[in-house]
Amino acid sequence: LSTWSAVPAGPPDPILGITEAFKADKDPRKINLGVGAYRDENGKPYVLNAVKKAESLLTATSPDKEYLPITGLPEFTKHAAKLAYGADSVPLKEGAIAVTQSISGTGALRIGGAFLARHYPHSKIIYLPVPTWGNHIPIFKDSGLEVRGYRYFDKKSVGLDFEGLKEDLNNAPEGAIVLLHACAHNPTGVDPTHAQWAEISDVIASKKLFPFFDMAYQGFASGSTTHDAFAVRHFVKHGHQIALAQSFAKNMGLYGERVGLFSLTTKDAEEKKRVDSQLKIVIRPMYSNPPLHGALLANAILGNEELYQEWEGEVKGMAERIISMRERLYGLLTNELKTPGEWGHIKSQIGMFSFTGMKPEQCKALAEKAHVYLTMDGRISMAGLNGSNVEYFAASVDAAVK
Ligand code: PMP
Repeated sequence: LSTWSAVPAGPPDPILGITEAFKADKDPRKINLGVGAYRDENGKPYVLNAVKKAESLLTATSPDKEYLPITGLPEFTKHAAKLAYGADSVPLKEGAIAVTQSISGTGALRIGGAFLARHYPHSKIIYLPVPTWGNHIPIFKDSGLEVRGYRYFDKKSVGLDFEGLKEDLNNAPEGAIVLLHACAHNPTGVDPTHAQWAEISDVIASKKLFPFFDMAYQGFASGSTTHDAFAVRHFVKHGHQIALAQSFAKNMGLYGERVGLFSLTTKDAEEKKRVDSQLKIVIRPMYSNPPLHGALLANAILGNEELYQEWEGEVKGMAERIISMRERLYGLLTNELKTPGEWGHIKSQIGMFSFTGMKPEQCKALAEKAHVYLTMDGRISMAGLNGSNVEYFAASVDAAVK
């Protein structure tokens, strides 16, 4: 008998499984709208010019391959924290932000989960929006936290269930942790307005909840990294101590390089030092130290005025291409095809994804009949659409819902 004879086969990953089905499909019209990776106007993966230039700069200096410190490349983490919190952030200026490099956004969330499970004194319960990025649930469960949900999406209005959200946070036990998507909520594409963020901040303060921001799309939502950091900066300005996970997968297109950051705002530089020491103790047995190459690239971009400007321009370009696809798709469905249903949310939703409202059987029909792949919750990655496939996609949606 084999040692592993009792291991049951697990289900495929709901998102990565789609890419496999897509790869196996031989139809030339096929479209993959499942995975959240940016595609250019020709449907191809896109390496940013700022990244290419950073690569050449780096090659010219032929850096060694030594280990990074446990918490990563110090110049990079300094620049990346400034990008999130803003140059005028008080805790940043006071040296009161504990920061570590992480294995992209996923790793940042996992470090945060493990740190909170070990050191957060008030509660081991974390509230996640319903729905949320599927991986949030196992990340926090495996970190040792108890996962609960708060209402977020209203199927009827295809928008934010703001009253439900406030009610659920108001009813949460005092001191519980709340995960917030800083911008470009995945999978819904629905974000609170600035006024709603201010109210959420007040509810969280009054219930003494602990805000944990996941910012995987800074710059991708609006095209401006400053605009997209509004919620994070508002909370910090209003006296919250926060946890923050950042990812450079999407906004620098560094997916496979695994470049991210985890940070906690603390009271002062002395407290930060103590927190830093415990972050190291959490990280060392997980993976010892983070990957070098991507951090060097991101650092070269964030630390060089010319590359930084070029990068900001490219982030804006990616966001604008996505926004233009939203408008085109909305126009096709509403004006040209007169597809049944209300499609205004395609235009109003924010970021890489759109929650179309299509039912699982319609999504299945799209894959089987039209070779169009998306997750069964009806989420599409807008970045997978372009001038050559958007008409075919709209016609396929039209056929699936009629
Ligand atoms: N959070 C959210 C909401 C995401 O959508 C993603 C990527 N799909 C991540 C975190 C983390 O991605 P990565 O580990 O590639 O940075």
